Amino acid sequence: KPAKQKPKPEPAPPACIHQTVYVPVHRTTEVQEARLRLPILAEEQQVMETINENPIVIVAGETGSGKTTQLPQFLYEAGYAQHKMIGVTEPRRVAAIAMSKRVAHEMNLPESEVSYLIRFEGNVTPATRIKFMTDGVLLKEIETDFLLSKYSVIILDEAHERSVYTDILVGLLSRIVPLRHKRGQPLKLIIMSATLRVTDFTENSRLFKIPPPLLKVEARQFPVTIHFQKRTPEDYVAEAYRKTLKIHNQLPEGGILIFVTGQQEVNQLVRKLRRTFPYHPPTKDVAKKSEIEQEATEETKDDVAETAEDPKEQEFDMKRVIRNIRKSKKKFLAQIALPKINLDDYKLPGDDTEADMHEQQDEEEEQEDDDELGLEEESGMASGQRQPLWVLPLYSLLSSEKQNRIFQPVPEGCRLCVVSTNVAETSLTIPHIKYVVDCGRQKTRLYDKLTGVSAFVVTYTSKASADQRSGRAGRISAGHCYRLYSSAVYNDCFEDFSQPDIQKKPVEDLMLQMRCMGIDRVVHFPFPSPPDQVQLQAAERRLTVLGALEASTNSEKTDLPPAVTRLGQVISRFPVAPRFGKMLALSHQQNLLPYTVCLVAALSVQEVLIETGVQRDEDVAPGANRFHRKRQSWAASGNYQLLGDPMVLLRAVGAAEYAGSQGRLPEFCATNGLRQKAVSEVRKLRVQLTNEINLNVSDVELGVDPELKPPTDAQARFLRQILLAGMGDRVARKVPLADIADKEERRRLKYAYHCADMEEPAFLHVSSVLRQKSPEWVVYQEAYELQNGDSTKMFIRGITAIEPEWLLLYVPLLCNIREVREDPAPRFDEASGKIYCHVDATFGKSGWELPLGEV
Ligand code: ADP
Ligand code: MG
Repeated sequence: KPAKQKPKPEPAPPACIHQTVYVPVHRTTEVQEARLRLPILAEEQQVMETINENPIVIVAGETGSGKTTQLPQFLYEAGYAQHKMIGVTEPRRVAAIAMSKRVAHEMNLPESEVSYLIRFEGNVTPATRIKFMTDGVLLKEIETDFLLSKYSVIILDEAHERSVYTDILVGLLSRIVPLRHKRGQPLKLIIMSATLRVTDFTENSRLFKIPPPLLKVEARQFPVTIHFQKRTPEDYVAEAYRKTLKIHNQLPEGGILIFVTGQQEVNQLVRKLRRTFPYHPPTKDVAKKSEIEQEATEETKDDVAETAEDPKEQEFDMKRVIRNIRKSKKKFLAQIALPKINLDDYKLPGDDTEADMHEQQDEEEEQEDDDELGLEEESGMASGQRQPLWVLPLYSLLSSEKQNRIFQPVPEGCRLCVVSTNVAETSLTIPHIKYVVDCGRQKTRLYDKLTGVSAFVVTYTSKASADQRSGRAGRISAGHCYRLYSSAVYNDCFEDFSQPDIQKKPVEDLMLQMRCMGIDRVVHFPFPSPPDQVQLQAAERRLTVLGALEASTNSEKTDLPPAVTRLGQVISRFPVAPRFGKMLALSHQQNLLPYTVCLVAALSVQEVLIETGVQRDEDVAPGANRFHRKRQSWAASGNYQLLGDPMVLLRAVGAAEYAGSQGRLPEFCATNGLRQKAVSEVRKLRVQLTNEINLNVSDVELGVDPELKPPTDAQARFLRQILLAGMGDRVARKVPLADIADKEERRRLKYAYHCADMEEPAFLHVSSVLRQKSPEWVVYQEAYELQNGDSTKMFIRGITAIEPEWLLLYVPLLCNIREVREDPAPRFDEASGKIYCHVDATFGKSGWELPLGEV
């Protein structure tokens, strides 16, 4: 037919080779001179040739060599931004903003062309040519445009940080690049790393069939002398202050960079240093001075108001985000109110006051020997001189203007001193640093094993991070790094590299999150460092039982894994383990969210309730715990009693909240056997969870009583069902004692339960308020084993009584329907369009008979 005889189009040129054109950029001489000092400029030609000839390239280069600011410019000048955009991802919001501004400035282009986009904020326009964004933003874009058709290049920056999102992006892009190639619309992928530890990317045949070329950017690096401490002090902030004092008083010119772990520590140290070395500007600079003074007080306010941890890790700046949400008129229907917080109520005895710290330090300072800076030959020269110190804070939440001050000239006669979180480790390079003071710690996100709630704890960094930090001192000349820990601690307690985040994240969360992104075969996903396969498969099964994934009914049609259910989508938005996400999702519908939030928070904190006088592994009379009776009265009758141990937690936390508002928290905790520190921890988590839910869950309407009054009896019954819905795989049934003839054996099994998936019976923990009652069917929060002599014994704790007829409704996948009854006859429900009938069914592998139930 004529239509088929059309002449074939010209064969396309080999798709990965880019036809270079030159797009001029008009930079100022000042910028041009600064650029020429960057090591990557010397390698421009080689870098660009490699990129032009290869679809995927890995660039590794020392921090500060110019990767982030220069590579996008090279690409722009070579014409990559002519028809499509150049996309650059950063794991940190702060870097995305700062770098887009810097590159716009260097290129003399408006922010409408070199722009950024982070969650809830950005300045991208249709004219944008270079787009900086967080890795999460690009992942979201892939969900709607799998081929990333708006981009000609994707640069994954800071890949050495191994954030979960960057790792997933590497895997996805390893497939997208060949697809784009096939369509004759090649996409370049550039993976940038500040370390040479890139074998997970280069030598990973599952990821890239042909290993991509590795470009190393050599940077001038002057030698850095490392000084360890003899001891490793607990209070590293005080120690950092002391060390800085010494450096400033005794050592020659050169900026000081101090690493601590979070915003609060940064502000605390900045205030102390500014007080010790006040900056007295010449009279014409008065405006600047008052600005700084004002800022100091502002920061004090911030500190008090702050409840969350370092917000980089928190991934959002609450104030800014909420402002933006309001602005964008986005509908966030789920607004949960918490009682007003008065942090003073929660101030713990023993919290150091500033004055105390001063004294302590001065004392310590006198004791220290003089040669500790390891620089006797130089130390004499500037001793005692009190040159002004220009102290600047640096952390992700700081406004961009304030952040930018680290790049501006230091007032004359001053020494620069920047106090930073690990933002300055590789994301931002501060000029003129000669001395680094490294506390050796960082904030790490840890997940609670049970609830999946994440919290930040201070841990030692890795050896790799310590080396990155010390490297910051050798940019301009030979430098010094003072590590506030001993070499023994460095050798014994520091890992070589920190583990990729993807391996720290609970697999169930990861599985559900990736499935919600539209990634079907998570088990076969080309991860740079894959999580355990067996665990991933088990996670898939657990998610199916939970109802987050479709139970596959007819698998013949396709061999695709089951789809994510509507419930699964909702669950994935809650920042907790999926089983608790499901409980939160259901509570949402019953206006019980504050209780479930409280419960999840309380379960995430170890030992809220003190258990004095109870030996955990032995059958001791319940009275042995002097608080036991009181707790039993909190869960005395009706559904309160049946809700069991969770009810005690709810009561305890709610009552403590009330006592706190009256200023009576310490006595309350003492008389009722609560750990006060744990109570404040629970409060913090409640606030965190509530904020996160308000942000992330937008499609279920809710109005909630702001006070945490005890639930009503009906609510307590709902809560029992909700607990079952989340804990359906943790059902236990009492061992029937009636059948046991032997008296001794009967006594042994008095509190014994069969768990659905365990051979050996488990015993109700002695601290459980439901132990006396020992209801036949229960769900438990946790099963654990204890050594008892040379045998072990299983225990279950966190007990709630359930009704067996709920099982068909809440955990249908673990029930087996054996027979559908004719009598009573099935009925058709017009409202739902469903047919209901009575069935005989059993539960679990052991086939426990269920009472006749309707499905
Ligand atoms: P890399 O990505 O290799 O770590 P960058 O491209 O981030 O390096 O930094 C290159 C240089 O640009 C550094 O010396 C840094 O100090 C400088 N720089 C970055 N941002 C600014 C800014 N806003 N003002 C002045 N200099 C900056
Ligand atoms: Mg960089």
